[in-house]
Amino acid sequence: MKFCSNCGTKEPVFKIPKGDNRPRFICHNCDTIHYTNPNIITGCLPIWEDKVLLCKRSIEPRLGYWNVPSGFMENGETVEDGAKREVWEEAEAKVEIIGTHALFSIPRINQVYVHFLGNLIDGQYGVGEESLETELFMEEEIPWEGIAFHSSIFTLKRFFDDRKNGTRKVHIGGYLQ
Ligand SMILES: [Zn+2]
Repeated sequence: MKFCSNCGTKEPVFKIPKGDNRPRFICHNCDTIHYTNPNIITGCLPIWEDKVLLCKRSIEPRLGYWNVPSGFMENGETVEDGAKREVWEEAEAKVEIIGTHALFSIPRINQVYVHFLGNLIDGQYGVGEESLETELFMEEEIPWEGIAFHSSIFTLKRFFDDRKNGTRKVHIGGYLQ
């Protein structure tokens, strides 16, 4: 951090605040402690009959790879509304959320994924701005080598396992390398 975002003073110091247990950037002028915390990425796996809807990314990172519609949660929205918004932005599709499916942490890059399952309303979808194409896949058609992120592989594998076993759970996982 180069400047205090509160008062503009240069070079906040990186040290452990009184009563805390880890270093933070602290402004030596206005004493503001600049906390940073993980980002939430919210998304939803849209389901239609025996298929799931994936989006091929038109943006970096992982441009050209398939993904469960997901993106950074915005201020002022609930995590489920954020998931629905992402499905609309990436796939021009509407979903009815049917449950929480996966919580997936990536501590190395300070990200937490929340993935829901949702019924694709009327089976309708298009191609949003952040996608090159969108497609409904049966399990055996999933392009496993071309999936964008560990979180999406986790979500898809657990979804198909649950479906095979007739179960539905909230799956907790992470990428810890
Ligand atoms: Zn300051």
